[in-house]
Amino acid sequence: MDVRVLIAGAGPTGLTLGIDLARRGVGVRIVDKAGAHFVGSRGDGIQPRTLEVFEDLGVLGAVLAAGGAPVPMKVHIGGRVVGERTMFDAVQPSPSTPYPGPWFLGQSQTEGILRDRLAEFGVHVELGTGLTCFEQDDDGVTATLDTGEVVRAAYLVGADGGRSLVRKASGIAFEGTTDETIRMLLGDVRADPLDHAYGHWFGAPDDPMRGIVFSPLPGTPHFQFGAPLGEGDLDVETALPAVQSRLDALTGGGVVLSDLVWSTVWRPNVRLAARFRDRRVFLAGDAAHVHPPTGGQGLNTGVQDAYNLGWKLADGSPELLDSYEAERRTVAARVLGISTGIMQKYADGEEDAYKRGDDTRQLDVTYRGGPLSPRATGLVRPGDRAPDAPLRAADRAQVRLFELFRGPHATRLRFGGRPADPSDDVPTYRILAGGDRPADPGDVIDVGGFAHAAYGVRAGEEVLVRPDGYVWSVTV
Ligand SMILES: Cc1cc2nc3c(=O)[nH]c(=O)nc-3n(C[C@H](O)[C@H](O)[C@H](O)COP(=O)(O)OP(=O)(O)OC[C@H]3O[C@@H](n4cnc5c(N)ncnc54)[C@H](O)[C@@H]3O)c2cc1C
Repeated sequence: MDVRVLIAGAGPTGLTLGIDLARRGVGVRIVDKAGAHFVGSRGDGIQPRTLEVFEDLGVLGAVLAAGGAPVPMKVHIGGRVVGERTMFDAVQPSPSTPYPGPWFLGQSQTEGILRDRLAEFGVHVELGTGLTCFEQDDDGVTATLDTGEVVRAAYLVGADGGRSLVRKASGIAFEGTTDETIRMLLGDVRADPLDHAYGHWFGAPDDPMRGIVFSPLPGTPHFQFGAPLGEGDLDVETALPAVQSRLDALTGGGVVLSDLVWSTVWRPNVRLAARFRDRRVFLAGDAAHVHPPTGGQGLNTGVQDAYNLGWKLADGSPELLDSYEAERRTVAARVLGISTGIMQKYADGEEDAYKRGDDTRQLDVTYRGGPLSPRATGLVRPGDRAPDAPLRAADRAQVRLFELFRGPHATRLRFGGRPADPSDDVPTYRILAGGDRPADPGDVIDVGGFAHAAYGVRAGEEVLVRPDGYVWSVTV
């Protein structure tokens, strides 16, 4: 075997998987047919659950430093500012949810941060190296690259985007619709002198919903813009002058567009792969599901596919590998429903289309009732996200549950009861109530009672947390 896992595609999904495997010491190669790294902001909204994943993978600091919080949107109608809207209600961090709101960073910058992290493990994206075909047998996958090289791997992961060769070559249907009646021109552009502390929405008095929107891109002089296209309207080549003249008509002039670094014509494409796995071949990210950008779910769902798959591929047991499709296809189907629902609100011109609800934060993703999650009752149940909580270690240092979870391992939390004496190598912590004295290096004190409140388990119960931060089991 040349390598354990071959990843086709170095977008956010492939890069996340690469990091998760490399940090476990799993041999991995990541190839991309593109000759150069993607430039453009595309998926610029990073959801709270993805921020938690990024913390575990060691990239959160860089993402927070490079990006920015959501900004309010100024509504310009007939050349005048008529109001301000916020997409997200402000939510304060809490002990269980340290990152409650989304964070904004252009996708190409996020990918750069992920590539840098991957390089720390000695793994580099192989550009100009497309997967052209593959076949599999009981022991592995034999893949041919367009460099002529033939690679033998235990598993192949198609993280190769919406037009996935891996999906097509596996004969997996991509069920759903492409709606040609709605077309948007999207791209990154300078728009001087628009204020970067705001998004800007320019509409016409008689049809305010068909306006042009500009969202500032942190750390750059650019905005991501979106402009609806009519029949036979603009294309990418004539984009800039055409958007400029439409903007001039809406504003009466004064905003100058320049330096178009990326643009694309987008149509609603809502599809879900019929299967996420064919024996030793797996699909993840846009290769498995494509979303409307409304709701900012595509990149985030791909990152979490990868995070769900990494520890399972590293383990290799049939039970874990089987659970990937059952867990992630269910989540992807739900997420497609959410982003399609928001897009429909825009299409229907609904007033509150702009407002985002809790369901876009992906903190409520659960694998309850899935193959790894026995049915149970209680506040936190198998399959649920394991919440964070501030604690005090036996040496009196402050520590968070997320810090105890950090890394490629599972974690056992024992609420009270006897000292930690695990029979396996799973890091085990006994969580004591505020007044208790630690007796063992594995004891941590729940000073504010936040862990007990968030988990709601009884004294003596144990919570086993999966490597990807979801509850595996709750036992007495
Ligand atoms: C305008 C716009 C706005 C968006 N906004 C958001 C947002 O706010 N939040 C969000 O979560 N998502 C958003 N998305 C969606 C997001 O961009 C995608 O979901 C995300 O890029 C998917 O990542 P991926 O790694 O699965 O696939 P991709 O990013 O498509 O990467 C696939 C990679 O595979 C490579 N590849 C293809 N074929 C082969 C082959 N045969 N061999 C090797 N390599 C191959 C490609 O070159 C590419 O680098 C938006 C998308 C658009 C267009």
